Amino acid sequence: MSRTVFEDVDLLVCGAGPVGCVIAERAANLLGWNVLVVDRRPHVAGNCHDSPAANGVLVHNYGPHYFRTSDEALLRYLSQFAEFIPANYEVRSLVRGTEFPFPINLTTLERFFGRALDAASAEKLLAEKRVPIAKPANSEEFVLSRVGRELYEAFYLNYTLKQWDAHPRDLDPSVCGRVPVRLDRDHRYVGHTFQVMPKGGFTRLFARMLDHPKIRVTLDTPFSAVRGRTRPRRATVYCGPIDEYFDNRLGRLPYRSLQFEFVPYQVEWRQPCVQINYPNDFAHTRSVEIKHVTGQAHPETVVSYETPASEGEPFYPVPRKESAALYARYRALADTETQRHRVYFCGRLAQYRYFNTDEVIQEALACFQTIRERCAVPVSSHPAV
Ligand code: UDP
Repeated sequence: MSRTVFEDVDLLVCGAGPVGCVIAERAANLLGWNVLVVDRRPHVAGNCHDSPAANGVLVHNYGPHYFRTSDEALLRYLSQFAEFIPANYEVRSLVRGTEFPFPINLTTLERFFGRALDAASAEKLLAEKRVPIAKPANSEEFVLSRVGRELYEAFYLNYTLKQWDAHPRDLDPSVCGRVPVRLDRDHRYVGHTFQVMPKGGFTRLFARMLDHPKIRVTLDTPFSAVRGRTRPRRATVYCGPIDEYFDNRLGRLPYRSLQFEFVPYQVEWRQPCVQINYPNDFAHTRSVEIKHVTGQAHPETVVSYETPASEGEPFYPVPRKESAALYARYRALADTETQRHRVYFCGRLAQYRYFNTDEVIQEALACFQTIRERCAVPVSSHPAV
């Protein structure tokens, strides 16, 4: 690609993750804008990045991304860039040495309480177990009010302590509220209409989005390398951590990180399903054999063991009151930045909000619409951000 594109940028995108790729692709394809995408990592696809391990098995380098959506139009949009194949997101939880279906379903309840149940008797049982809390204010109250103390302590309490290094009572109800509880035998992790994986992986999907003559991608390039030097005529999209954009001037927002150990095995399958959770054993929270859902046929396998960490790459915003308050102050700075300099903050780190992959792509499409409407007229002497 020519230098001209670099010097003649309409849209500067910081971050080649799902948000950056979608907005860059839309701007280039629909509007014919010159787009410069920078990313500090050496690859595209952000945390969706996947790559072959030494034995050739495709792994999700930053933890499993189980693509699911009930939005058919979204899937149609993504299908321009990859073929999608059905995926079975089945998770089990190891409790007292036994693997239980997780999220909790009828089979889990039967095995845990040691009696045969149907939907009506399970509902009656849970009604006896539930702690009556009208308006759960945190994740502990939420789970207690849904399934009672025994199940909370067996499946949620220690997993959440490990995952967040915080007590469920200090975390927003939405943290544990993400996980459903079912009175049927549906063993799938989520209930969305479409549970699918891009054939060939996410990295290939997002690389295809960026494969356009109007898009230039510069990897191993932090935002600081282009900040103030590239003057995009239309807008900037920033997908990095919002506090970092403002040099942490209000203090650092907390993020939870993860460490991954990828272990190859010379057997075709190591686990019965894609993910096993360990609420009460080990330092790691889960083991993931992603091969179960990528559709790859391979005589060997790889399992990744995930251990939460306080230091490292920022993966999860921490959903508690203090961090929400600090984010709100950064958000006010960001809004001013949007008005003054046409910088748009989009994505998990920039909006300090947990998004699933489908949700963040919807967010990116909405952000693109806003930019398209507000930034149709180029700024010739746009002030550097
Ligand atoms: N969780 C739990 N036990 C489990 C799985 C999840 O207590 O076996 C709680 C935990 O607090 C976790 C949250 O539910 O952070 C959301 O789980 P999910 O699997 O959606 O987390 P993610 O895959 O996004 O890390």
